[in-house]
Amino acid sequence: MSVQLQSRIPVAVLGATGMVGQRFIELLQGHPWFEIVALAASDQHGGRAYAEATRWRLPGSEMPASVASLPVVACRPEVLQGVKIVFSALPGEVAGEIEEAFARAGVAVFSNAKNYRMAPDVPLLIPEVSGDHIAAVVQQRKQRGWSGGIVTNANCSATPLVMALKPLQEAFGVSKVLVTTMQAISGAGYPGMSSYDVLDNVIPYVGGEEEKLESETRKMLGTWQEGHGFVDAPMVVSAHCNRVSTREGHLECVSIALERAAGPEDIIAAWESFQPESQQLGLPSAPAHTLLYRREPDRPQTLRDRDAGNGMTVTLGRLRPCPILTYKFVLLGHNTIRGAAGGSILNAELCLSKGII
Ligand code: NAP
Repeated sequence: MSVQLQSRIPVAVLGATGMVGQRFIELLQGHPWFEIVALAASDQHGGRAYAEATRWRLPGSEMPASVASLPVVACRPEVLQGVKIVFSALPGEVAGEIEEAFARAGVAVFSNAKNYRMAPDVPLLIPEVSGDHIAAVVQQRKQRGWSGGIVTNANCSATPLVMALKPLQEAFGVSKVLVTTMQAISGAGYPGMSSYDVLDNVIPYVGGEEEKLESETRKMLGTWQEGHGFVDAPMVVSAHCNRVSTREGHLECVSIALERAAGPEDIIAAWESFQPESQQLGLPSAPAHTLLYRREPDRPQTLRDRDAGNGMTVTLGRLRPCPILTYKFVLLGHNTIRGAAGGSILNAELCLSKGII
């Protein structure tokens, strides 16, 4: 369905003062379908103007003038009357109840929080990977009695991983995945970790992240079966997650076992020719290249490649044989854009174009 709107849809950002909230604001500037009409965060801001309540922290951009005077209100549906879509950048500690209240009140919630990702009736959506999972929203509304709904996007490390695996799964089958991440500090929000702890350091632990990477990957690469539910992909995934002192961009070293034989050029061709439906639909936030394979021996690099496709492209490189599994390679995804705000906006675009919202 091509989307023809008379006017832009009024949307709000929950958690608007945080790292991901600011990305939402940046990426929604001039969006052809969505218009920010409200910003919300914790009660501490008490309706103060966004410019007073927040320090803009994104490098390379200024706080957009269009939001500077918007009041920062509480995350309650009765306060955000008239809003049709909320983009949630709330922490997991509070997201569950707040997002449910909006879904119950008839609002479409696009969430970055962990709370509903693994729920049996909630899509863990990446349009290029699990686009057909949006059918779960119909069952979700029926079962829970919600007139709105919740669609989640994945953990910021799982997102680029499944995007790289999807065309390989389709072409050759993938039975085993071993992934080691080097995750940027912005993944921990603001202020996140103390500089004394993270500078000049690598921390071989990101709380809860390995479990999320292992379970979310199998849900997203699995199937939605009408009348039955989600069925995980039949693969084993083992993750090591590390925090490194880069600002943005999660780099991942991946080894995979394939089910059917493939040469390196077959794999690169599968990545380079990957044309998911979401791209054919011409969604405004879909990048020209979902996946970009770089042939230089030392790419992708966090600093040089994280902004590919305005942060929505996943960059791949260093494909070579793995003496333990079948192949190994490196990938890079922008955690607050593709892995968070940009991914959520793309999800909303897909749901709108498919008539789900
Ligand atoms: P953050 O920088 O810590 O921002 C959290 C936001 O939530 C702030 O706007 C904060 O507003 C608001 N908030 C805190 N407590 C609240 C409450 N009780 N009621 C209402 N609002 C409240 O975190 P973040 O990195 O943006 O992450 C946001 C969410 O996205 C988390 O669930 C995170 O796991 C997920 N995520 C993050 C990334 C990433 O790369 N950073 C990637 C994928 C997913 P105040 O100003 O009022 O405190």
